[in-house]
Amino acid sequence: MPLKAKSRRRSIRIAVTLLSGLLPVLLGSVILYMQAERALRQSAQQTAEEAIRQFELMLDNTAQAARELLPLAGQSCSDVNLALREQVTRRPFVRSTNLVWDDTIYCSSLFGDYHEKMASGDFSQGQLELMKGNPVTPDTALLVYRLGMGKQGAMSTLDGYHLSNVLRLIGRQTLLFLQIGPNWLTVDGKFHVDMLPDVPVAPTSLASSRYGFSVTAGFPKGETWLYMTSQYPPLFSLLIFFGVISGSIGYFLQKRTSSPTHEMRRALEAAEFVPYFQAVVHGATKKITGIEVLMRWNHPKEGLVRPDLFIPFAEHSGLIVPMTRSLMQQTARLLAPLSASFTEPFHIGINITASHCQDLELVKDCRDFLEAFAPGSVHLVLELTERELIEPTALTHRLFEQIRDLGVKIAIDDFGTGHSSLGYLRQFNVDFLKIDQSFVAMIGVDTLSGHLLDSIMELADKLDLAMVAEGVETQEQSDYLTAHNVNYLQGYLFGRPMPGAEFISALSDH
Ligand code: C2E
Ligand code: CA
Ligand code: CA
Repeated sequence: MPLKAKSRRRSIRIAVTLLSGLLPVLLGSVILYMQAERALRQSAQQTAEEAIRQFELMLDNTAQAARELLPLAGQSCSDVNLALREQVTRRPFVRSTNLVWDDTIYCSSLFGDYHEKMASGDFSQGQLELMKGNPVTPDTALLVYRLGMGKQGAMSTLDGYHLSNVLRLIGRQTLLFLQIGPNWLTVDGKFHVDMLPDVPVAPTSLASSRYGFSVTAGFPKGETWLYMTSQYPPLFSLLIFFGVISGSIGYFLQKRTSSPTHEMRRALEAAEFVPYFQAVVHGATKKITGIEVLMRWNHPKEGLVRPDLFIPFAEHSGLIVPMTRSLMQQTARLLAPLSASFTEPFHIGINITASHCQDLELVKDCRDFLEAFAPGSVHLVLELTERELIEPTALTHRLFEQIRDLGVKIAIDDFGTGHSSLGYLRQFNVDFLKIDQSFVAMIGVDTLSGHLLDSIMELADKLDLAMVAEGVETQEQSDYLTAHNVNYLQGYLFGRPMPGAEFISALSDH
């Protein structure tokens, strides 16, 4: 087979195999990555919703205290101080309560009488303010809830400890922040006023519909991969399994498509097998009496390929039968238009392998071939090589009988190189012996081969078989063979094999 640039094909094959193996793994990983991102987004959303719910519950409780105290605003602090403390005691999240008159805190559950002007603009939606601390606990954040009606006002504060507890319990692996106006609180209970930090994975912000606060949830960088490695190990194993399977399929498909059989089947469909004709001349007159049809592979990349490089593969794969059929059809198409002008039957030699003789299909091929020509204008000669003898079975006998009935002749090719016996030659009713070119090449060179050639010629004479000498390259060989009554000659001296169409135009010119 013409197998140029083998190493390039090998590296392409390795690359395609790796690619087909990696593709499902990569695609699967991308899908798993997206799936992990989705799961994390869902988890962040759920966390944020849960935090909102918990904070709202705590604020409900805190707001209730302010609501109950609001009607008391305006009364003297000593009269209402007990009521303020009672709310602190009764309500689990309330740390302190205050009463306001005309935007001034005048009574506190902690200090009793008090005086502090307050700016309502500090409150988110006029309602909530997150503070770093108060004079009693300056480092513990607290959330102030304010309720006002005219000059009356009541405030209750929620301890930051409860808030950070909720953030910690609900957040767990999630980044979770509580934001009120410009201030925000982290899991560790720390108060911040600067920009909210960046949340790299699945950032989700939700605002409460009832109070002026929002929460932001999400995950730190690299969480998606961490999630994948912890949640998807069985799926990863499955992906690797699919990768191996797909890589193997890729490898075997390529191997199949690059196999000689596959390549030849493609070539057959693309009509790349073409006939070359080589002239066979009459021994005495040197006039062209026929041709031998020789197959060539017109390969799109490798150029013209010699038959001995691909015929063995064609035989092995069984493609030799359709290939020979195509060659016969092309030959008939080329020569049939000339057949009416043939004055004597024109010999057309076709090479046949033993595998072509395993059924009766060959009979039909020969009949179709002959029917293309003017009746009696050609002699079809099947050349069977002596190196590959045909088994004499009932089927082969029938086959050769039917072929003979069609008027087809039989030639033993490469005669002298194999082991055909007298019985074999008789059984198949051989008409021609084609003397192998190795004997012809020895004419005038090697006396022993010369003797062998003489014996072959004598044998053919005794058997009354016509002889064709192959590989005649010199005048000396031609003269010698003619002197020994060899009937037909074939070789470069009379013409090289040439494309069918070219041969025909040369023949027509003659
Ligand atoms: P073959 O049947 O013995 O064909 C003769 C070979 O000798 C041809 O080689 C031809 O080109 C070459 N030849 C002709 N004259 C000379 C010469 O003067 N000197 C030298 N050195 N060589 C000469 P080719 O065409 O390369 O074919 C090689 C072999 O391939 C053929 O040997 C035949 O066995 C096989 N082959 C060719 N075409 C077919 C085919 O259609 N079917 C089958 N089954 N085998 C084929
Ligand atoms: Ca031949
Ligand atoms: Ca031969």
